[in-house]
Amino acid sequence: MTVLVVGSVALDSVETPFGRVDDALGGSATYFAASASHFTRVQLVGVIGADYPEEKLLELVSRGVDLSGLERAEGESFRWRGRYGHDLNSAESLETKLGVFSHFRPKIPAQFRTAKYVFLGNIDPRLQLDVLEQVESPKLVACDTMNFWIESRRDDVVKLLGRVDLITLNDSEARQLTEQVNLVKAARWIMERGPKTVVIKKGEHGAFMFHGDRVFFAPAYPLEAVFDPTGAGDSFAGGFVGYLASTDDLSEANLRRAVVFGSVMGSFVVEGFSIGRLLEVNKDDIAARLAEFHSLVAFDAEVP
Ligand code: AMP
Repeated sequence: MTVLVVGSVALDSVETPFGRVDDALGGSATYFAASASHFTRVQLVGVIGADYPEEKLLELVSRGVDLSGLERAEGESFRWRGRYGHDLNSAESLETKLGVFSHFRPKIPAQFRTAKYVFLGNIDPRLQLDVLEQVESPKLVACDTMNFWIESRRDDVVKLLGRVDLITLNDSEARQLTEQVNLVKAARWIMERGPKTVVIKKGEHGAFMFHGDRVFFAPAYPLEAVFDPTGAGDSFAGGFVGYLASTDDLSEANLRRAVVFGSVMGSFVVEGFSIGRLLEVNKDDIAARLAEFHSLVAFDAEVP
C-alpha cells in the first residue's frame, strides 16, 4: 500500500555543537518521505517556492516518491532555522518563515485521494483538516504537530484529534497540548478526544505507544555520536507508518514492530545533516539495526 504524506518541504539552517548547515533539504514531508520510501511507495503533497533547489528532490523520485502533488508557487520556500545545545533532545526554533506555506491550500491529486494510509505531517492544523476533506476512505490517518502550532492554533489541533486514528508527538508537545505533566495522563487526555493510538517520543530516551489500555515502550538506539537530531520525529513517523502501510496490518503486534522500525529510522537520520543518512542506508543496514534493537531489549524474564 502507498502512503500519502502532506507536510512542509523546507530549507533548514541548523546549528549543533558539531557543525552547521544552511538551506539544507528539510521539512516534515521531506524527512517522512525519505524514511518511508525504504518500506513503500510515497505520494507527497506540499509546496515549494521559486528558490527551492528542486533537482535535489530527484533522489526522492528515484526512491519511489511521487512528487506530482508538489506545488511550485511564487515566493520564498518555507524556511526553518534551529539550534541544538548539548541537550540534543530539544531544538530551539530561531526562525520560522512560512513563505509560500502561508497561502497554501493543499490540492490532493485525484490519483492520491484513494490512499489508504495518510500521514498529516507537521503543518498548520487547518491545512491538515483540509486534507481530510479530500481523501476518500483511508484505513489509517496519522498526524504529527509541534509547539509552534499548539501555541498558535491550539483549537484546530484539538479539532484535528477528533479526525485522526493515531498521533505522534514528543513529550514536551504532549505536555503542552494537554496541560498534563504525567505522560500517561497526557496520552489518555489525547485518546479521549479521538486517536486510538498515541505515540509519545522522548528523544534519546525512546518512545511510548499507548494503544487502548495497553502501553508499549521502545528505547532509542544508544548512538555514540548524534550529529543532528533534526528530522528524527518525521523519520520515526516515516518508518512507523511506512512499515504499517507495507504490511497493511494494524494489529497491536504489528503496531509494536512499527514503533521499532520508526526508532530504527530515527536512529539513522541523526547520524548526519538533512536527509543524507536516510538516502545512504539500505535494507541490510535497516535489518542489522533492527536486530541490534532486538538484542537491546531481550532478557530472560525467569524469576529465580
Ligand atoms: P522533527 O522531525 O520534529 O525534528 O522536525 C524537523 C522539521 O520540521 C524540519 O525539517 C523543519 O523544516 C520542520 N519544521 C519546523 N517548524 C515547522 C513548522 N512550524 N511547521 C512545519 N514544519 C516545521
